Amino acid sequence: MSKKLVAGNWKLNGSLDANARLLSALAALPGVEMAVCVPYPYLAQAGSALQGIGLGAQNVSEYTSGAYTGEVSASMLAEFGCSYTIVGHSERRALFAESDAVVGRKVLAAQAAGLVPIVCVGETLAEREAGQVMSVVGRQLEAVLDVTGADAMARIVVAYEPVWAIGSGLSATAAQVGDVHGGLRSWLRAHDVDADGVRILYGGSVKPENADELFAVKDVDGGLIGGASLVAEDFMAICRAAMVKQN
Ligand code: PEP
Repeated sequence: MSKKLVAGNWKLNGSLDANARLLSALAALPGVEMAVCVPYPYLAQAGSALQGIGLGAQNVSEYTSGAYTGEVSASMLAEFGCSYTIVGHSERRALFAESDAVVGRKVLAAQAAGLVPIVCVGETLAEREAGQVMSVVGRQLEAVLDVTGADAMARIVVAYEPVWAIGSGLSATAAQVGDVHGGLRSWLRAHDVDADGVRILYGGSVKPENADELFAVKDVDGGLIGGASLVAEDFMAICRAAMVKQN
């Protein structure tokens, strides 16, 4: 596997002033690929401030153009220098009713414009307690595979984000993460996807204090970082933890 990827997800946070301070404190590190996924209006600001750090969006339209008020297409994101977009974050699935099928179409749209989709999958606590983790993440991946096919699926990034761990301060344990990441890699392999080339990130309450342990887990190829990506010192510490842990 290549370098680990650590991507920040700023969510609905920021202002021109706060962003300027945060962006000026980020610096590319050798041995780790870094990216930040910012709200749409800040793409230009972040794109011109970042040096050697990738730019991403947090969502993308499944449509390319037309009468879709409020939507932002993948080619628009590419024009603003994005190389990544998050697709299917659990907040979008839960709060904005994004179905598995919509997520699949968004992945297709992102790839068609040359973006790398960071596809989020993960179970709720009730699903975990019902023993449904692999069936849930498998169903979410299947919807992507249905539209991309196995070759293009090998060019996505998968982010395993247990819903109960996002923003809760309670990360999944290293053992839980190892089980699911191994399961995801096996799922990809079983569906004829070149699984060794697919980065599988972990997301859910990653902080400087647990990053070392999580990044040391087999099949963890980096992280998707929410809250901690808004604090430059914490995001840089997490990126440094990824730098020294190559699988
Ligand atoms: C996320 O929003 O993708 C996320 C992982 O959030 P947090 O790190 O705050 O749990």
